[in-house]
Amino acid sequence: MTATDSGSDGASAWLTVDLGAIAANYDLFRNMAGPGCLTAAVVKADAYGLGAGQVVAALENCGCPFYFVATLDEALHLRRLTAKPVAVLGGPYRGAEDEYVAARLMPVLNSLADIESWRGTAERHQVPLPALVHFDTGMNRLGLGPDEAARLRDDPEAAEGLAVPYVMSHFACADETDHPMTARQCALFLEAAALFPAAGKSLANSSGVFRSESYRFDMIRPGMALYGLNPTPEAANPMMPVVRLEARVLQVRTVRKGESAGYGATFRFEKDARTATVALGYADGFLRSLGTRGVLYWNGGRCPIAGRVSMDTVIVILGDTGPEPRPGEAMEVIGPAQDADALAVAAGTIGYEILTGLGSRYHRRYVRHAAPAIV
Ligand SMILES: *Cc1c(COP(=O)(O)O)cnc(C)c1O
Repeated sequence: MTATDSGSDGASAWLTVDLGAIAANYDLFRNMAGPGCLTAAVVKADAYGLGAGQVVAALENCGCPFYFVATLDEALHLRRLTAKPVAVLGGPYRGAEDEYVAARLMPVLNSLADIESWRGTAERHQVPLPALVHFDTGMNRLGLGPDEAARLRDDPEAAEGLAVPYVMSHFACADETDHPMTARQCALFLEAAALFPAAGKSLANSSGVFRSESYRFDMIRPGMALYGLNPTPEAANPMMPVVRLEARVLQVRTVRKGESAGYGATFRFEKDARTATVALGYADGFLRSLGTRGVLYWNGGRCPIAGRVSMDTVIVILGDTGPEPRPGEAMEVIGPAQDADALAVAAGTIGYEILTGLGSRYHRRYVRHAAPAIV
């Protein structure tokens, strides 16, 4: 971004989302899936904080055939954006079943109780109501555990009349190479999936797709990597960068040796320094844990954070980064010098939390820069 266009509006910070890069990342997954395997898109949490409206429109252009969200509210929002199947990972909320039916949403059935309730709903409506069945293969988070799967094996009538296009499970450790749990989960999944021989199988999240072709089955469910996060953290990121975040410089100051910066006076200057106060704080999702640990970039040079992150501002040391920024110019927070994964490492968290915490004060711009992948 140039100084003039950054200074020409009233934003404290600018978030740029490259929808072309999301489309290219989607195409990469579709190519890996190959024919006969659907590439669903996980767009929960407002498409990982990037804006479900814009992201789903871009994915619709790619022909994305299937979407996953976490909650009923997210699914109702999505229903206004796409006519494609929308599955709700959180399951059929008790008492809200008719809302799923009215909006043609597919709950993910996470327990025998969910199965029973959804069968009841289908009976009441006198139509087969499609739903996914989720088997827990080791996360102990959601899904039918081994005991419930065994009960279903003993009493197949418990699932009679259910329309189940897909059964699914979810990896706990696919972000780590060769984690023994990943292959074990796949074996358990295959065992459980045999309960619904007519259903397609879906197991792999973004990382799982990269770990083995044998995890892809009939539908893959990437989320994070569509948004540019690295699904293979041990290696270079195979995805196109999607997010750019820049924040306005409010002031440039001289701080003298022995003085401090920020709340609590936790940071003391050992020599005179030039600092910039930047319009970015924990109210924007710029995590407080980045205090004294994180960096922003100016002209590609590192500007370490001095002291605590405030609600609306952060102080950085300009050091030897060439000509200083002037008030109104924008420093890089996420971009070519520091991706969301790198910022997450500095904050002691993961890229998912950085993206889903992107603040509502950022002025959002949607662009289509990345060239579409050659298919
Ligand atoms: C969030 C989620 C995904 C997507 O995972 P990523 O790691 O973001 O690719 C897939 N499946 C389930 C069940 C999820 O909860």
